[in-house]
Order: sequence, then C-alpha cells, then structure tokens
Amino acid sequence: MTVEYVKSRQAFGKTISQFQNSQFKIAEMATDIEMGRAFLDQLIMEHTKGRDIVTKVSMAKWKLTDQAKRIVAESLQLHGGYGYMEEYEIARRYRDIPVASIYAGTNEIMKSIIAKNLGL
Ligand SMILES: Cc1cc2nc3c(=O)[nH]c(=O)nc-3n(C[C@H](O)[C@H](O)[C@H](O)COP(=O)(O)OP(=O)(O)OC[C@H]3O[C@@H](n4cnc5c(N)ncnc54)[C@H](O)[C@@H]3O)c2cc1C
Repeated sequence: MTVEYVKSRQAFGKTISQFQNSQFKIAEMATDIEMGRAFLDQLIMEHTKGRDIVTKVSMAKWKLTDQAKRIVAESLQLHGGYGYMEEYEIARRYRDIPVASIYAGTNEIMKSIIAKNLGL
C-alpha cells in the first residue's frame, strides 16, 4: 500500500518514491518484513513437527508485533497528512495494529516467558 502511494504522490516536482529517504525507509521495512516472515514460517514448520516452540513463539509474538507498530508508523509518515485521514486505509491500520502487542498475552508477558525459559 505504501509502495503504491509513494509512487503516485508528487511533491517538489518528483514522486515521493524518488526521495532517497523514502527509498531507504521502504528498503528497511521490506527487509524487516522478510526476516519476520522467515522466522514465522520456521516456527510454523517446527510446530507442525510437534516441537516445543514456546520460547521462540514468545520471541516472535513480541518482536513481530513491535515491528509491525514501527512499520505502520513509518508507513503513515510516508503518507504525510493523508495518512491521518480515514479515506486512506493506512489510518485504520495505524489504529488497529497496536492491539496485537496486547491481546493473546501482552509483549511484557512474552518477555517474562522468555526470561523464565532462559532460566532467569
Ligand atoms: C481486541 C482484544 C481481543 C481480545 N480477545 C481475547 C480473547 O479472545 N480471549 C481472552 O481470554 N482475552 C482476550 N483479550 C484480553 C487480552 O488477552 C488482555 O487484554 C491481555 O492479556 C492484557 O490484559 P489486561 O488488558 O487485563 O491488561 P493488564 O493485565 O492490566 O496489563 C496492563 C499493562 O501492564 C503490563 N503487565 C501486566 N502484568 C505484568 C507483569 N506481570 N509483568 C510486566 N508487565 C505486566 C501489561 O503488559 C500491560 O502493558 C482481548 C483483548 C483485546 C484488546
């Protein structure tokens, strides 16, 4: 969604996507998403094999939801003022995504599980 937006919006005679800052932000976000997805896929595979993934899944839950909050905030920033308008889908994502670090066990509780399983 953000990639499409930055390619279409023009400012100072260029598309937003032509600014190096936009490119770097999107490159960082795309990298984080790929790495997160690879970790998640690995956990799904381990789970289907019946392995105990409680510690790793707690790591994934806090890390990926934290990352999602950061990514949606960066995406909204790249939308500028329109990002805050209900007409743009990113505004709803910005509002809805933070709850993922609360439900199904808060991120603080995930870290407590990790610490306990590390013997702390
Ligand atoms: C949209 C949504 C859907 C939900 N769906 C379900 C559902 O289907 N089934 C269900 O059972 N529940 C559901 N919940 C409840 C959800 O699991 C709880 O909101 C969540 O566990 C946090 O509990 P709490 O809201 O009472 O927060 P609190 O326990 O009051 O926590 C407030 C803050 O204190 C922190 N905190 C609390 N205890 C500790 C601790 N020991 N150490 C460090 N920090 C701590 C928390 O991390 C949080 O940041 C849902 C919640 C939401 C928002």
